[in-house]
Formats: sequence, structure tokens, C-alpha cells
Amino acid sequence: MRNGVIIVTSASRGIGAAIARALAANGWQIAGVSRSGATAAGQGYACDMTNEAALADTFRRIAAAGRITGLVNNAGQHLETPAQTITVADFERIMRVNATAAVVACREVYPHLKIAGGGLIVNIGSFFDKLGVEHNLAYCASKAAIGAIARCLAVEWARDGIRVLDVAPGYIETELNREFLNSEKVRQWFVRRIPVGRVGMPDEVGAFVSSLYQTSIGFLTGETIYLDGGQSVNH
Ligand code: NDP
Repeated sequence: MRNGVIIVTSASRGIGAAIARALAANGWQIAGVSRSGATAAGQGYACDMTNEAALADTFRRIAAAGRITGLVNNAGQHLETPAQTITVADFERIMRVNATAAVVACREVYPHLKIAGGGLIVNIGSFFDKLGVEHNLAYCASKAAIGAIARCLAVEWARDGIRVLDVAPGYIETELNREFLNSEKVRQWFVRRIPVGRVGMPDEVGAFVSSLYQTSIGFLTGETIYLDGGQSVNH
């Protein structure tokens, strides 16, 4: 076993499950947090990430079970709705899961990482953070916030040996979007739009995030790293 526990939020399925599996395969102990408590690897903890008190309590329980050395904030939800009719409740719901919960998780893990002498926080953003996407106002705003959160925390916590990164995936095939992504019309569009000619797979995000923990590059912090087959830089 590697030295320490890495918390992975939303480790029950999709990208979070792939990240938890990849980290576990590399010898890390995993604390997988999701509403259901299911995790693809390690020990599962049931917690709604939008419940501030429950999140703090869950992190305390994880810390009591082992030394925390990392956090991957992957919990996220999507909303597709026209901007002219978006409700405050819907906008705040998406900001709350995607951005506020990440801030609270970072804040709650901070003392544990500081005691451990430092660590790495990876927040999962999206390449939508710098795009204007129709009917995606709340989601895009929340993912842009993830980039800002990584920059601010990286600057503030560098002296504690804590690094913060934003890993921003492009289109990644999961159980939820597989049917949509594999329809002929959508596939043809991707072949034209994504330079590598296909969507990404959860295991690719898992392997990349895991590699960030394998090779500790102390000079790398505060950055948003895109993992999107070149789509966001494609003219
Ligand atoms: P899924 O919808 O497949 O999985 C969502 C995960 O989030 C589940 O594990 C779910 O577990 C958990 N979850 C949702 N709400 C909460 C909550 N309130 N508290 C705790 N856990 C919660 O998502 P993906 O794997 O597709 O996405 C994962 C991350 O990657 C998200 O942040 C997403 O925005 C981002 N992303 C995804 C892309 C894609 O194409 N798939 C592209 C770019 C970014 P449970 O139901 O058990 O709580």
C-alpha cells in the first residue's frame, strides 16, 4: 500500500469510479464518497456532497481511519435548459454540487493535508469552462469556477505543500451518455470536431489523474489541464 488515503468523491460510477480504480491499482488506499455509499474501489462512505455538515463529518471519519494525502473532487451534475427561463433554484443547485461542494471539500481536507506535510487536490472541471454552450449556462459557470478555485487555493496553500489542479475532461463516454454519444449523427460530428476522432473513455481520465499522484511534480500547481482529444484547441 502507498502511504495514505486519497478521497475520491462520486466514486460509485462513471469517471469517479475509473479514477478510484486506477488509484487503487497503483496502491493507494481509497475513500470513495457518494450519496449511495457505493464505491468502485476501497472503502465507501455515504454522503451528499451538498450537505456541509455531513461532508465535514464524513471527512473526519475518513481521517480517523487513515492518513489523508489527497482529494479528488469529481462529484458533478449537469443541467440543460434555456438561459432566458433558468430559475435561481436550478442555477444554485448546479453551482452547489459542482462548485460549492468542491470548496467545502477542499476546506475540510486542508487541515489533514497540512498535518501530513502536504498533498495534492485534483478538482474535475470540464472543457465547457471556456466555451459558450447553448443551454448550459449553469454548468459552464460552475466549471469555470473550478478553474478559479484551483488557482486561488494553489496560491494560498503552496506554502503548506498543498498543490491544487483542475483536470478538465472533454466528452467522456459513461453509462449515462453512451447511447447519445454513439448515435450515428453525433459520432459523425465528433469525427469532425475532435482532432483524435473520438470521445474519451473514463479509464483515460482515471489513468491521467492517477499519474498525477504517482509522479509528484512539486512545481505543478494551479493549472487547468484539458483532457479532450484536442477539441478545445481545434479551430
Ligand atoms: P455520472 O453522472 O456518471 O456520475 C455522477 C456521480 O456523481 C455519481 O457517482 C453520483 O453518485 C455522484 N453524485 C451526484 N450528485 C452527488 C452529490 N450531491 N453528492 C455526492 N455524489 C454525487 O458523472 P460523470 O462520471 O459523467 O462525471 C463526473 C465528473 O466529470 C462531473 O464533475 C462532470 O461534470 C465531469 N465531466 C464529465 C464529462 C463527461 O462527458 N462525462 C465531461 C467533462 C466533465 P451517487 O448517485 O451515488 O451519489
